[in-house]
Amino acid sequence: MAKPKLFSPGPIDVAPETYAAMCGPTIGHRGADFEELYASVQPGLQEIAGTSRGVFLNTSSAWGIMEGSLRNLTQKKVLNLCGGAFSDKWYGVAKSCGKEAEKIQVEWGQPIDPADVRAKLSEGGFDTVTLVHNETSTGCMNNLAEIAAVVREFDDVLLITDTVSSFSAVPTPFDELGIDVLLCGVQKALALPPGLSLFVASERAQARAATTPDRGYYFDFVEFQTNHEKNNTPSTPAIPHIYGLKERVDVMLAEGLENRYARHAATNQALLDWAAGHGFESLAPEGFRSKSLGCFVTPDDLDLSGWIKAVRNNHGFLINGGYGKIKGKTFRISNMGNETLETMQELFVALDEELPKFRK
Ligand SMILES: *Cc1c(COP(=O)(O)O)cnc(C)c1O
Repeated sequence: MAKPKLFSPGPIDVAPETYAAMCGPTIGHRGADFEELYASVQPGLQEIAGTSRGVFLNTSSAWGIMEGSLRNLTQKKVLNLCGGAFSDKWYGVAKSCGKEAEKIQVEWGQPIDPADVRAKLSEGGFDTVTLVHNETSTGCMNNLAEIAAVVREFDDVLLITDTVSSFSAVPTPFDELGIDVLLCGVQKALALPPGLSLFVASERAQARAATTPDRGYYFDFVEFQTNHEKNNTPSTPAIPHIYGLKERVDVMLAEGLENRYARHAATNQALLDWAAGHGFESLAPEGFRSKSLGCFVTPDDLDLSGWIKAVRNNHGFLINGGYGKIKGKTFRISNMGNETLETMQELFVALDEELPKFRK
């Protein structure tokens, strides 16, 4: 059976042009051809990240850098801000790295309250905070600017931010907000196949990393910086992905970032309007809803898995039936990447055609 087009929030649909770009020739990574390729993506990525710092290219999924950030930066204790599958898991990962960790836990779907972060950090002893900007499992988008401002009130505390499903869908201005690590995988908002992640580290973060013992090699921030200065990576990178990334960056710049943000806002609004038309409620409260996906509460009278299967089998579109402990209780639809009002409309037509058959 043909594979469905992915409207699940990651991995997402990849454009044929991206796949084509990924078929470039294999080149040695310790040579001028690679250095040129590496350098060519920097200005665009810096513009998207809102930074004058380098954007490191890391061959692993996002979790590599999520774990690596703790191994590089947490010397005393990390505060994990938890409210969904990814943010909750980060706390467990901190523990499994042998780090001292505490968390602020909010109900899944709810945002983190910056005042709670201030109160917790005021207790002292923390040197790092982890924040998932856009909790892909719940569709809740935290207020990055407010939380970053709170963390900045504490001199020695560094803010590590996961923008896996928000990077390039909404602005995440690294320098302006004073973020210390911004990271993302490429298979969500950037619309590449999985296998590569990107990150930016502040000067403060680099200084901290340099003094952290046992930070290992593969995700060593100091190695990334040293190699970056030569337009290179510490170890052999996923070169096809970097060709693909170059194609994506060029497409994003050609569209214009403001236009790209506006397109995501419009497709997301269309998704929320469609959902409201059917009485589907967003899990996240108004004002904190993601711009790159929707996460909706499954009504009691809906056979969710039957509906999802029918849409996949009869129309070739795949939406997601919930993640982690809210699997089945919620469903998620992505508008990340290359989707337009027209392609979202094609999905809505398919969803609408099948829906009456699965409402009891
Ligand atoms: C998907 C996702 C991750 C995990 O990414 P991997 O690529 O599986 O390592 C982390 N955080 C968020 C917010 C995600 O959506």
